[in-house]
Amino acid sequence: MAEITAEQVLEALKQIKDPEKDQNIVDLGMVSGLQLKDGHVAFGIEVDPERGPQLEPLRKAAEDIVHALPGVLTVTAVLTAEREAAPEPQAPAGPPPGPPPGGPDQQQATFQKMDLLGIDAVVAVASGKGGVGKSTTAVNLALAMAADGKRVGLLDADIYGPSIPRMLGIKEKPTQTASGMIAPLENYGIKCMSIGFLVEEETAMIWRGPMATGALEQLFKDVAWGELDCLVIDLPPGTGDIHLTMAQRVPLSGAIIVSTPQDIALADARKGLSMFAKVEIPVLGLIENMSYFHCPHCGERTDIFSHGGAKTEADKLGMDFLGEIPLDIVIRETSDSGHPIVASDPESEHTKKYLEIAGKIWAKI
Ligand code: ADP
Repeated sequence: MAEITAEQVLEALKQIKDPEKDQNIVDLGMVSGLQLKDGHVAFGIEVDPERGPQLEPLRKAAEDIVHALPGVLTVTAVLTAEREAAPEPQAPAGPPPGPPPGGPDQQQATFQKMDLLGIDAVVAVASGKGGVGKSTTAVNLALAMAADGKRVGLLDADIYGPSIPRMLGIKEKPTQTASGMIAPLENYGIKCMSIGFLVEEETAMIWRGPMATGALEQLFKDVAWGELDCLVIDLPPGTGDIHLTMAQRVPLSGAIIVSTPQDIALADARKGLSMFAKVEIPVLGLIENMSYFHCPHCGERTDIFSHGGAKTEADKLGMDFLGEIPLDIVIRETSDSGHPIVASDPESEHTKKYLEIAGKIWAKI
């Protein structure tokens, strides 16, 4: 089937009129950030935030009209309040643009929590910054839950570097089910979907918050997850607008914070904690990754960074300490090559640690 083009989408959207202005939303310049990837379409409709709630039918109509075009698999239209900028200091030139004015609070006026039918628990894996092993931890914990007999889904929401499909050894792209949903991909007994399937990696990071949130929403409502005991979400690093909006839209059971020992004393873990506290999401605990060096040759342990700091810090912050995972090349090689250690070496010491941590998380949800 021919790829859908931006012109075709805009042409279709010209049929949608703003009821107050009697002109179509394209000519009014309300359509923004149009993204197309392999039949997945996403765009924003810029509106005055006060009108947000009334304009839900318009948003839905825009989504439906694009969905009806040949070659379109999924559509996400989000109402954004970008224009309603309160007088702001001069915006810096060039990407990345900041979050929308008013941020997630404004979004909250428009959106309510989603109903995730069939999914019993949703756990978000977060970190203060990138590169601490958040995705590696998310993958191995999801596999550990599956090894324990749970039905598990893993949602890669890290718009800055979607890596979960690679870590799970998934190379194919998702397909559509008979009912028009996206079928999640599967490997090692867990279901997986990634924001990387919907957006180009290089454009994802310059998306404004509402656009990225819209794509995430698509990953919940348009994916045929089926019945799950737990959906694990690999969040983008940091504490941005997306996290807050996610927290407000997704019924999260709790969040886990992954940190390395050298960052633990820094503000990152605290920031994560206070963000989740603000949106009333329970923090299930802290995992210290790359905790100590495990020599693959002699098996000896070396505490490169002072040991025990994470536990002390977690205690200080009133967070549970869930466990520590060593820095070991085996963990890196297995996850980066698509054979995470919990799946490829179920008897290893590292796998036991992941199983133990997954057990603690499970007990809390
Ligand atoms: P993040 O999601 O926080 O950006 P990743 O999970 O992508 O981090 O990990 C960054 C890199 O570190 C990857 O190459 C990964 O394989 C490696 N890594 C993660 N955890 C460990 C560990 N415990 N030991 C060795 N390498 C690790």
